[in-house]
Amino acid sequence: MNRKRIGIMGGTFDPIHNGHLLAADEACRAFDLSEVIFIPAGHPPHKDEKHISSAEQRYEMTLLATNGVSYFSVSKIEILREGATRTVDTLKELKATTAYENADFYFITGVDAIMSIGTWKSPEELVKLCKFVVTNRYGYSFDLLKKLPEYIQDAITTLEMPYIDISSTEIRERIENGEGVRFLLPHAVESFIWKHALYRN
Ligand code: ATP
Ligand code: MG
Repeated sequence: MNRKRIGIMGGTFDPIHNGHLLAADEACRAFDLSEVIFIPAGHPPHKDEKHISSAEQRYEMTLLATNGVSYFSVSKIEILREGATRTVDTLKELKATTAYENADFYFITGVDAIMSIGTWKSPEELVKLCKFVVTNRYGYSFDLLKKLPEYIQDAITTLEMPYIDISSTEIRERIENGEGVRFLLPHAVESFIWKHALYRN
């Protein structure tokens, strides 16, 4: 039986933007994935929670951004779990569900994010649960990957995508400063941000 090829796009998504969406879409085509599951982090261990929007709001923005794309879905798995978000636990939980028991997982991440893998829980176990698709990110060369332990490098395939110099941090800062963000993220997400007065402090 053919195994399913499933992409996983994890992130804080505060807010989700066009860089996330393009990375997922490019990975889909390059690796012939049947689906990309966007998984908003519940309690990101590497981010100060005082400064992030509620999990429910980040989940809703992710739903709005992916709505209408048949091969994109959103999972609440990390939001529903108590405690810090650990990718290894998420992948184990997904693999245990009938829908994904015959799936190979492709974890999509930018170079910036994979470089912190040393601080993630059980990277040795993680590389057995998924392959990594690492996309270029403005300001982070693929050369950096050579600094990672060999067993992690072996699990990585790089993927060139058009450089999208957008970060959630920049979007939050622009909104705080009253600047426009119109073409950096989907319109429905921008409307949600205005409606709920996010990032105004
Ligand atoms: P923040 O500025 O708050 O850190 P971010 O834009 O980096 O936000 P995250 O939610 O931290 O977004 O990132 C989730 C994943 O998406 C990471 O793997 C990150 O590398 C990737 N990613 C984010 N922005 C881009 C982009 N513009 N191009 C390619 N990959 C991106
Ligand atoms: Mg980031």
